[in-house]
Amino acid sequence: MERISPNRLDRGFFQYQEEFEAKALEVLRSGWYVLGKEVKSFEEEFAAYVGAKHCVGLASGLDALWIAFRVLGIGAGDEVIVQGNTYIASVMGITINGATPVFVEPDEYFNLDASKIEEKITERTKAILVVHLYGQASNMAPITALCKKYHLRLVEDCAQAHGATFQGKQIGTFGDVGCFSFYPSKNLGAFGDAGAIVTNDDQIAEDFRVFRNYGSEKRYYNKVVGTNSRLDELQAGLLRVRLAHLGELAEEKRRICERYLRELKHEEIALPKIREGATHIWHQFVIRSAQRDELLRYLDENGIGTIIHYPIPPHLSEAYRYLGMKEGALPITEEYAKTVLSIPLYNGMTKEEQDHVIETINAFK
Ligand SMILES: *Cc1c(COP(=O)(O)O)cnc(C)c1O
Repeated sequence: MERISPNRLDRGFFQYQEEFEAKALEVLRSGWYVLGKEVKSFEEEFAAYVGAKHCVGLASGLDALWIAFRVLGIGAGDEVIVQGNTYIASVMGITINGATPVFVEPDEYFNLDASKIEEKITERTKAILVVHLYGQASNMAPITALCKKYHLRLVEDCAQAHGATFQGKQIGTFGDVGCFSFYPSKNLGAFGDAGAIVTNDDQIAEDFRVFRNYGSEKRYYNKVVGTNSRLDELQAGLLRVRLAHLGELAEEKRRICERYLRELKHEEIALPKIREGATHIWHQFVIRSAQRDELLRYLDENGIGTIIHYPIPPHLSEAYRYLGMKEGALPITEEYAKTVLSIPLYNGMTKEEQDHVIETINAFK
């Protein structure tokens, strides 16, 4: 059997090859390549999909995050609460603006532990950044209550969880800004870099539209010092094709993960859990094992590629050495970094590939 990769973006392309190719040609022949009718249509369709009033297309998920804090006026001297076990981009979205990340430990679902937030709130706390990690919606009821009680802004990092819900409500719509990435490996992936925000606030949406295009509302009249974070027509057009099929793509991943949950059986391996009231769109299927490194090597030797999301938590990365945090500062976060493993999962994964992953893991000694 051919080696099984952790992800196969080519399979996702071939599933709708004709539609992607037709759209790409249409855009190439249109003569209009940045911020045009494809971007506008995608923004309308994605806002409707999420159930938000506005969507603003951007160049990446990181841009969505840092521009969110910029637009909300959060910067030097301010603190933002974020979970310790996230992808480092979440933290960079905070620190690019000069604000300080204050890390909180995750719960058993790999998301922000709402019961540990309050003790970290100070006079400087301005916002909570919730990351819906691996595809599962976070525990939003207590988090939104805390934001109300302490008058904090709420930003959601939805880069891994397009379409996930908490108590029936789509993530990205709980707070001030929902930040999305459409990096090719995400569940709603483009064919290059792309991102967006959603919001129900007219002013925030307007601020993003101005900021992404050098701070200009009207060509060559610049209101603020902005940036270039424009979404291009090709990515927006291809995203529209994928968005139209997102329901069936999510359903396919759900079926694969239900098989994993049903058929993976090993005493030394913990399977992911889903919180009551939350849905999981399975960006990653993350298992945990005290023998993680041996398991990784064993799977590799048996033709199965895996990835660790993420081996070094942001607070221990070289980039954030200046925060002065030491090993042991976030024991649960650090424990996850040593035990998590993402097994192969992608649209277009064959039954034989799933069988091989399940049988091989179950036979691990
Ligand atoms: C991918 C990702 C981002 C960043 O998105 P880019 O489009 O790569 O800039 C931010 N946060 C999380 C949790 C992500 O997974």
